[in-house]
Amino acid sequence: MVLPFLLLADAAWAGELAIVNARIHPSPDAQPIAKGTVLVRDGKLVQVGTDVAVPDGAEVIDAEGGSVVAGFWNSHAHILPLPLSEATARSPAELAFALRRMFAHWGFTTVFDIASFPPGNAATLRKRIAAGEVAGPSLLTVDMPFFPADGTPSYVKDLLESMAAPSAEVATASEARERARRQLAEGADGVKLFIGAIVDDGTGVRLMDLEIVRAVVDEAHRAGKPAFAHPTTMEGIELALAGGIDVLAHPTPASGPWSAELARRLVDGDVALTPTLQLFEIEVRKENAPETVVEEVAGIVQQQLRLFHEAGGQVLFGTDIGYIDQADTSREFELMAGAGMDWRAILASLTTTPARRFGQHARKGRIEAGMDADLVVLGSDPADDLRAFSNVRYTVRGGEVIHPAPWHRP
Ligand SMILES: [Zn+2]
Repeated sequence: MVLPFLLLADAAWAGELAIVNARIHPSPDAQPIAKGTVLVRDGKLVQVGTDVAVPDGAEVIDAEGGSVVAGFWNSHAHILPLPLSEATARSPAELAFALRRMFAHWGFTTVFDIASFPPGNAATLRKRIAAGEVAGPSLLTVDMPFFPADGTPSYVKDLLESMAAPSAEVATASEARERARRQLAEGADGVKLFIGAIVDDGTGVRLMDLEIVRAVVDEAHRAGKPAFAHPTTMEGIELALAGGIDVLAHPTPASGPWSAELARRLVDGDVALTPTLQLFEIEVRKENAPETVVEEVAGIVQQQLRLFHEAGGQVLFGTDIGYIDQADTSREFELMAGAGMDWRAILASLTTTPARRFGQHARKGRIEAGMDADLVVLGSDPADDLRAFSNVRYTVRGGEVIHPAPWHRP
């Protein structure tokens, strides 16, 4: 016997889907379309507007009272927690459940895994999603990160041991270059360098040699792929700038406030930033610090984001989900707004900016005929209230409704 929800899932995947009565925001800088219809066929957007006929037999989603925006990107995530770290062994249902909780529930249709273990695991998951076996986001991965010699971060050590994963440390530029070349040839979508690795041997932060940074970045760029870095300190930022890094995976609370001049240099260097603001509140609270310290740290990273955004920097929405367990995105939006980003700037960080940054602008990031049918139906309108961004009614990836689960759909 075939269960009814399986039939429904298949129908949504292959057929036509119409989202009606929606206030559509085609892109962050476009005029909204009131009471519009988005028509999807075979995973692509075929028509968008107010004068769209809904074909007989199409699945219909009524977005009355809500809004429709392009599918979100999470540009800083980790395919680390169970069951996702066992992508070969686990069932499609288990994997889809975890992916829905972390991503689809919050509107994410494309996710960049910027370091995970064991090697090759995220690529296996990517393959199972792409084959239609597991409902989930379009997945990009850097596979294993690069740590400096004796620079495996303290918070990763136990995890690596429990997975019996190989060391991710690199001692020389040639060793680093060789592994980067291999990972990229095996399908990694970028590289991730722990330029400033947080270690617990009393020294605090282990910096990567500039020569190693350059070797890894060089291999990534040769393959047309981005290099992410974990800078941690001001020295880390300088190494990132000197080494040609494309994306800072975090701001740097340990460095204290940034100067406008530093923000300008990052923008001139074409360096993008994932703010991960909420992460720092979570980390500081973990150490049982008083709330005044939590506020102080949050204030520093907001100041850094504010200057970077004001300087015209490319902000890529990212939360570090998979390292943190907190999937709810509402606090991150609140903190970004507190750093001076309005709803259009936040929508850009979720859609057009990452699509352009990662070379998928022709297919993703906007609601326009011919684009991938990656959509989010929100319960309200972010133009009225930012909280709409975390009020996700439906997530559609490549024409398939991946949230809510078929058995929860009205
Ligand atoms: Zn991370």
